[in-house]
Amino acid sequence: MNPHPFEKFQLSKSILRAVIAEGYHEPTPVQHAAIPEVLAGRDIMATAQTGTGKTAAFALPMLERLHVKAPGNSEGAGPIRALVLTPTRELALQVEESLRVYGRHLSLRSAVVLGGVSMDSQVKALRRNPDILVATPGRLLDLMQQGRVRLDKVEILVLDEADRMLDMGFIQDVRRIVSKVPARRQTLFFSATMSTEIVALAGDMLNNPARIETTRPASVSRSIDQKVLFVDHANKRSLLAEILKGKDVRRVLVFTRTKHRADRLSRHLSDSGVSADAIHSNKSQGARQRALAAFDCGKVMVLVATDLMARGIDVEGISHVINYELPNDPESYVHRIGRTARAGAVGTALSFCDASEIVMLQGIEKLTCSPLVADEDHGFHSATIASLHSPRAGAAAKPPQWRSFGPRRNARFR
Ligand code: AMP
Repeated sequence: MNPHPFEKFQLSKSILRAVIAEGYHEPTPVQHAAIPEVLAGRDIMATAQTGTGKTAAFALPMLERLHVKAPGNSEGAGPIRALVLTPTRELALQVEESLRVYGRHLSLRSAVVLGGVSMDSQVKALRRNPDILVATPGRLLDLMQQGRVRLDKVEILVLDEADRMLDMGFIQDVRRIVSKVPARRQTLFFSATMSTEIVALAGDMLNNPARIETTRPASVSRSIDQKVLFVDHANKRSLLAEILKGKDVRRVLVFTRTKHRADRLSRHLSDSGVSADAIHSNKSQGARQRALAAFDCGKVMVLVATDLMARGIDVEGISHVINYELPNDPESYVHRIGRTARAGAVGTALSFCDASEIVMLQGIEKLTCSPLVADEDHGFHSATIASLHSPRAGAAAKPPQWRSFGPRRNARFR
C-alpha cells in the first residue's frame, strides 16, 4: 500500500490518524512548505490566505512539538505552552476547533478566550491549565491585567492573520502581549499580505525566519468563476432577486460595505421570502454564531456580511459570493471571494458595479492583475455604466479588448 502523503512529515501516529480521518489526501502548498520548518524548530513568516490550509500548516507541527516535548512539570497541570493570536472571534473559534480535531488522540488541552461573551467560562477554562490558548488580543489583555493568565512559559507563539490585526487596530495590544511572552520561543507568523508595516512587525518578532510564500499576496483561486455585472444602484435589489432564483444558487454570501446596509438587505430578503440573516461586528457573539450555524446547516440560504467578517467565515459549499457593493479596499475583494471554492471546490463570485464603483473595480483589477469578465446576460445590465469602465469608453460598437479573455457563457450565474 502506498504511504499516505502526510507520512513524509513523520508526525506522530495519533496526529496522522486525525489527518487521515479528516480526508486530507495531499498537503496543500503552505503545509508542504511550513510543516518541516516548524518541526525543525524554526520561526516562519508565511504569506497565506484563509482557504489555503494554513491552520493545519501551523497546528499540526505545533501539536507535534508540544506532544513530543513533555511539559517541564507534572502532566496536565502545567502553564500555557502555546499561544495563538487571531484578529476575530470567529477565527479564534475555528482555530481552536481545528486544534481539537487534529489533536483529538493527544492529551493536550486547549482553551479559547475572546471578547463579546462573559469572562466566567473563560476563567474556568484557564483554571483547567490548557497547554494551548487561542485568543483575540483585547480579551487576552484584560485577563492578563487581572492576573488570570500567565504567558511566561510559552514556547510557541502564533500570529494568525497579522495583517488583519493591524487593519483592526490591534497592533499595540499585540505588541503588549508579545512583550510578556519569553523571548526564547518559536514564532509562527501568518499574514495574507506583506505590506511594509507587516514586514516591520514581523522583523521585531521573528528570529531568522523561514520565508514561505505559497501564493501571490493577491492571487485568486482559479476555481472561482468571477464576473462583474454593471447595474444601476437602484436596480441592485432586483438583480439580486433574479440571481437568487438561479437553479445552481444554493448557499450565498452577500457583501455590503456597511453594517447598516447588511441589516437592511437581510431584512428585505427575509420580507421577500428568502431565508437570510446578517453577520457583522455590531452583533453579539451569540448572534453571529447562530447566524453562521444556520448558514452552515442550510437553514439560512443567504448570509449578508461586512468585510470585517469575511475572513472568519469558513463554511463549506458556498456556491456564490455576491459583492452587492464593491469594497473600498481591493484586498478585501480577494478575501471576500475566497469564501467560495474552498479546499478545491468550485465557486462563483459576482460583483455588482454601479457608476460610483467603477474606480473600485479598477483597483481590484489592478491588484489581481486580471480584468473581470462582464456578464451582460441579465435583465438589469447598464450599458452606460459598462462604457465608463471600458478602456475605449464611447466606442460602443467595439467590445473592450479584455472581454476576449475567457469564453462568454450563455447560462446565467453558474
Ligand atoms: P484554512 O486555510 O486553514 O482556513 O483551511 C481551509 C479549509 O481547508 C478547512 O476547511 C480545512 O479543513 C481544509 N483543509 C486543510 N488542509 C487540507 C488538505 N491538506 N486537504 C484538504 N482540505 C484541507
